[in-house]
Amino acid sequence: MRMTRFVLAALLGALFTGLSFSCPAGEKPGYKDTPMLPGQPWHVHDSDRPAPRAVTPAETFSHGAPPPSDAVVLFDGSDLSKWKSDKGPAGWKVENGYMQVVKGSGSIVTKDEFGDFQLHLEFATPEKVVGNSQDRGNSGVYIFGRYEVQILDSYENPTYTDGQVGALYGQFPPLATAPKKPGAWQSYDIVFESPRWDENNKLTKPASVTVFLNGIVLHHKKELIGGTTHREVGTYKPHPPHGLILLQDHGNPTRFRNIWIRNLGEYDKP
Ligand code: MG
Repeated sequence: MRMTRFVLAALLGALFTGLSFSCPAGEKPGYKDTPMLPGQPWHVHDSDRPAPRAVTPAETFSHGAPPPSDAVVLFDGSDLSKWKSDKGPAGWKVENGYMQVVKGSGSIVTKDEFGDFQLHLEFATPEKVVGNSQDRGNSGVYIFGRYEVQILDSYENPTYTDGQVGALYGQFPPLATAPKKPGAWQSYDIVFESPRWDENNKLTKPASVTVFLNGIVLHHKKELIGGTTHREVGTYKPHPPHGLILLQDHGNPTRFRNIWIRNLGEYDKP
């Protein structure tokens, strides 16, 4: 089902992580006045939630990985022909084999939709460090425009742990903190299975996601609580088992390169 312009605009307008964030000096970033996360002893963006263990990634993992034969190449460094925005053509800059967020041009989405998938992409947060916490190198991979795998400059940049790089934003911190330095290319390998509903719109299977950042597993088939929200507990709203991929404009000039995606397929169904 093609997403209507209205629905797309609504999704783009619902990216709550675009809110600016700050906290008084000496206080831990995060919140204690937000709802409790279901099944977890933490508030949404809980300032007391412990930081994951720090791991230094190896120099490379899947960096520069060429696409397999059945992959759809979403960006090969040359143009944004596979992307659009709610304002029309994708307005991000393309140069030197990468695309870069142009502040205010809006988030970009794929023209095509995908079902359960394996996604590879590489990103670099700005080499020039500006801002802190959620205002530093913020972007994100919004699966189906609904479920965010966070992108942030998390190199020596404290923030609430369910908002750092690799977090399933506002729901689960990553299992490890494994960022590279600002400006360095980092690899994401993401496996996603869409939620499913029955004919009565009852959720029969939550969304699940596996994420590797720079070769380190951050989530393994982790089930999402619902859609991504800010300072709230996300809920599920029924949708088809396929959708677009959105890259977030959070106002920071984050770069992307080498993006490809392939459908997972099913066992015994070649
Ligand atoms: Mg983000």
